[in-house]
Amino acid sequence: MDFDHSEKVKKLIAQLNRFMDAHVYPAEQARYDWIADHKNLWKYWPGVDDLKAKARAEGLWNLFLPHEYGDYSPGLTNLEYAPLAEIMGRVPWSSEIFNCAAPDTGNIEVLAKFGSEAQKKQWLAPLLAGDIRSAYLMTEPQVASSDATNLETSIKADGDDYVINGRKWWISGIMDPRCKLLLLMGKSNPENSRHTQHSTIIIPRETPGIHIVRNQTVFGSMNSPGGEAELRLENVRVPKSNMILGAGRGFEIAQGRLGPGRIHHCMRSIGQAQRALEIMAKRVESRVAFGKKLSDQSSIRQDVARSWCEIEQARLLTLKAADAMDKYGNKVARDLIAAIKVIAPQMAQTVTDRAIQSHGGMGVSADTPIAGFFTLNRMLRIADGPDEVHMSQLGKLKIKEFNAG
Ligand SMILES: Cc1cc2nc3c(=O)[nH]c(=O)nc-3n(C[C@H](O)[C@H](O)[C@H](O)COP(=O)(O)OP(=O)(O)OC[C@H]3O[C@@H](n4cnc5c(N)ncnc54)[C@H](O)[C@@H]3O)c2cc1C
Repeated sequence: MDFDHSEKVKKLIAQLNRFMDAHVYPAEQARYDWIADHKNLWKYWPGVDDLKAKARAEGLWNLFLPHEYGDYSPGLTNLEYAPLAEIMGRVPWSSEIFNCAAPDTGNIEVLAKFGSEAQKKQWLAPLLAGDIRSAYLMTEPQVASSDATNLETSIKADGDDYVINGRKWWISGIMDPRCKLLLLMGKSNPENSRHTQHSTIIIPRETPGIHIVRNQTVFGSMNSPGGEAELRLENVRVPKSNMILGAGRGFEIAQGRLGPGRIHHCMRSIGQAQRALEIMAKRVESRVAFGKKLSDQSSIRQDVARSWCEIEQARLLTLKAADAMDKYGNKVARDLIAAIKVIAPQMAQTVTDRAIQSHGGMGVSADTPIAGFFTLNRMLRIADGPDEVHMSQLGKLKIKEFNAG
């Protein structure tokens, strides 16, 4: 493995850092104040449009998307994109500025990889242009959805249409007024074998029959403007041409959707941990307790040192996973992908916890971004597959591998 970034990536890293310094860090407080004002609930911060236009004009756009899907981006590999995702992760909302935000990125990959020409024209084009946003509807309240074969929402053929009925919850982004596209995973072929019963289908957000039951808070936050919400789908009717790839092929699509997304999430977590550590280092150097700087306390130095080691470990492992995905594909790299999905958010949760502690009361406030990083990473240990599910798959793989002779 080559530990040096290419010249092309070094240039992009410098360019992205300059953009963050000039436009994103200075906007953090204004955006926070705007979002925190309850009269702005479910509206998006207006400053975002200007920043998106600037980023796009500079070519800092769709950075996550490889060239195999067309000429919409600088065409980076997973390994090349990883350090850029880390930089964006330092300000979690900033990914949107560069059209690199979940769940749009995963939905873009699905449409680019599996969509028909008509589906690409109608939905992929505006997503790539950053004109609309989207949501991914998988999880259901009544079944353990970490096992996606449990999903019950029904997709039934009726003449030229499919009719969809069921419940979904924890749907990120659905409250954003710009959300126009939903990709839903549901059961279309109950007679088939367990992994060919489900399909992924396109539902325009404005389709009649989509009811918001309630908004769901995450550690007390509404996560406006995208939010998380519980939905009831009641006789939601879409044309058959909205089926992606074909009925019963939902698991194929879900597998394709999740690999690169895990690198993105993990590198962003690493960016949050790194920034928390940098903020912590400044705080402990300037704060005096019991006659000494906090940075002179051995326990504080241990916390800084341990955090630095853990961040480096997680970063190297995630880069290794990205490299393996590029060289050998998602399937061969699935052990490393499972490992980083567990390691990176846990590490970021631990590092941000130490950074919170070193700030005293200020640590749990919104005066620094650290408390937000902590809750985000705690949540990421559940979303996109809980830790135990990845561990279980990884353990099974390794037992098989070591018994294969
Ligand atoms: C903030 C947030 C945003 C989300 N956004 C979306 C979204 O946009 N779209 C979407 O579809 N979903 C979304 N989710 C849902 C998320 O993907 C699910 O919560 C997750 O997959 C777990 O499913 P579940 O909640 O049904 O938990 P369950 O399947 O009920 O599992 C509960 C717990 O059981 C344990 N467990 C499960 N399997 C095993 C095992 N094999 N071994 C040991 N223990 C096990 C784990 O501890 C797990 O956390 C989001 C969740 C959150 C919190």
